[in-house]
Amino acid sequence: MNEKDIENMIEKKNLILIGPPGSGKGTFTQELKQFHYESISTGNLLRENLAANSFIGQECKDFINSGKLVPDKLIFKLIHEKIKRTLREKTPFVLDGFPQSIIQYHYLLRLLEKEDMKGRCCFLEFIIDDEKAINQMISRLFCLKCHQIYNNVTCPPLKRNTCDKCQCKLVRRSTDNRDDAIKRLKVYRKETKPILALAKKNFEILKINSNFGYNVQLYINFIFHILCTSNNNPENYYDKI
Ligand SMILES: [Zn+2]
Repeated sequence: MNEKDIENMIEKKNLILIGPPGSGKGTFTQELKQFHYESISTGNLLRENLAANSFIGQECKDFINSGKLVPDKLIFKLIHEKIKRTLREKTPFVLDGFPQSIIQYHYLLRLLEKEDMKGRCCFLEFIIDDEKAINQMISRLFCLKCHQIYNNVTCPPLKRNTCDKCQCKLVRRSTDNRDDAIKRLKVYRKETKPILALAKKNFEILKINSNFGYNVQLYINFIFHILCTSNNNPENYYDKI
């Protein structure tokens, strides 16, 4: 399969990533950019809209400034606008960090049905052992300027604490410590993981095992191969990676 074949195939599916924090969703999303995937993450959408001082950005700002969580209603608006834009631009998208709850899942389902996109979406479930996920989270670094994620263990920057792309300083989030990591895993299990049982009824779900590390490029080729080969059960291929 050459690169052109892969590009033609991936136009057909948008990807929705579900998995515990530290399971490699962010890295995977970054790798998809080389296949012209548009990454949609609520964190980045918020940052973009705040920086552009858009109408929704201004509404969100009031909540952020008063230390409150941005309500689902506004997050939904941000997601919907962005998905509509990818539709107009005919760009496949990858959703990372949304949906995080059953309520958000139902919203997303309605939105995809409304835009006639349900059949063009597929879920990827990331699987990782708790201890490995915790280690990933506490060794994570990110670039303040371009948001590129690094990991001191699995994908360190070329130069210590410096972004490969823009040479800016890399920082660790204050929340990337062991106690917070454990809390986030618990929240994932309680709030987010139950989505998968519902999603099974409406979408194809492919599993990605992050426990042993994998060659992302190879995995992406593999996933698109499965998505584009009808009547193949992904589970049959699972052990071959
Ligand atoms: Zn950078």
